[in-house]
Amino acid sequence: MDILERMGAEGHEQLVVVSDKSSGLKAIIAIHDTTLGPACGGTRIWPYKTEQEAIQDALRLSRAMTYKSAAADLPLGGGKGVIIADSHKDKTEALLRAYGRFVDTLGGRYLTTTDVGTTGRDLEYVKQETKHVVGLPTTAGGSGDTSIMTGLGIYMGMKACAKEAWGSDSLTGKTVAMQGFGKVATHTAHHLMKEDAKLVVTDVFEGALDRAREFGLAVVKPDAIYGLDCDIFAPCALGGVINPETIPQLKCKVVAGGANNQLLSDADGAELDRLGIVYAPDYILNSGGIINVEAEIGSEYNPDRAREKTERIYEIMERVIAIAKREEIPTAKAADRVAEDRLNAVRSIRRVYRAS
Ligand code: NAD
Repeated sequence: MDILERMGAEGHEQLVVVSDKSSGLKAIIAIHDTTLGPACGGTRIWPYKTEQEAIQDALRLSRAMTYKSAAADLPLGGGKGVIIADSHKDKTEALLRAYGRFVDTLGGRYLTTTDVGTTGRDLEYVKQETKHVVGLPTTAGGSGDTSIMTGLGIYMGMKACAKEAWGSDSLTGKTVAMQGFGKVATHTAHHLMKEDAKLVVTDVFEGALDRAREFGLAVVKPDAIYGLDCDIFAPCALGGVINPETIPQLKCKVVAGGANNQLLSDADGAELDRLGIVYAPDYILNSGGIINVEAEIGSEYNPDRAREKTERIYEIMERVIAIAKREEIPTAKAADRVAEDRLNAVRSIRRVYRAS
């Protein structure tokens, strides 16, 4: 991999490679774009097989964060940290604090938060070495569990899609098939149940299904979820689930869920469009989490501000649909257009000289 060539092609600003012999820390921090504000994104702890794999992941995920924050109208750029380690075995206070010291050397160009393999408690160690941390537990003065706001955002985005598909944003009586019944899906389900939508869920973890049954929800086997007779399919577990194998099975009019990277490739977004299925681009719908942590930056966490901004996902989704129709492009492409237009507009005002 030619790193500088890839960074140049995709617009990355900085890649930081860090190592601390005493704690065993090996980490990569990627800063994609800071046009809109400090680069923000979680720190992933994952046992990458090679350094190349870790670098590629950091570059890919930091770019995705630029797009997510740009489309969500946040004053944040995109960044991501990855630590090459097994979160079940290798996570120690020393490793996390050493990482925090390196984050601190970036002077606020990168703000970190949780991701796969890191928890709010881990961030408390990172925080001992740097103030550039967001998404701390509420008991540590932070914004706490992001999945609450993520669930609200998915629900709001679903309503905007319903309006496009059926002419009304009411979800009353609509059947929603949820793949995965973890944190995000559960919070989305609360809103859907309040509106008397019908929920059918699946999960590979029996404990999650027991929870669903306690709510009185119908449960199906994992493979049965794609072909279910439903109005909305909500992927809330894994990426890549919208692909040439699953699309022919879908009977829904809307695909709207919280999982990251739902489309296996761009062609799958185009195929949903061709079939007349309204697709809610994942990073538009699941931006409630980053909106929540942003509400913690620079002042005390304000849940009302986070909620109000998350509810705007409805309008953003409407804008994405309008662009898709006007330009005759799939919604996934229209979402990128929303993000890129904002980045370009803000970049252009940077030419103005400020005396102070
Ligand atoms: P979670 O681990 O709480 O829930 C995921 C659930 O999916 C688990 O119950 C798991 O058993 C289930 N699952 C895994 N593989 C499955 C399969 N093949 N079929 C059915 N179920 C399966 O995670 P979460 O925080 O709810 O996140 C869910 C998705 O949303 C992830 O893709 C995550 O990246 C994304 N996301 C989460 C947030 C957040 O705030 N937590 C924000 C943005 C995006």
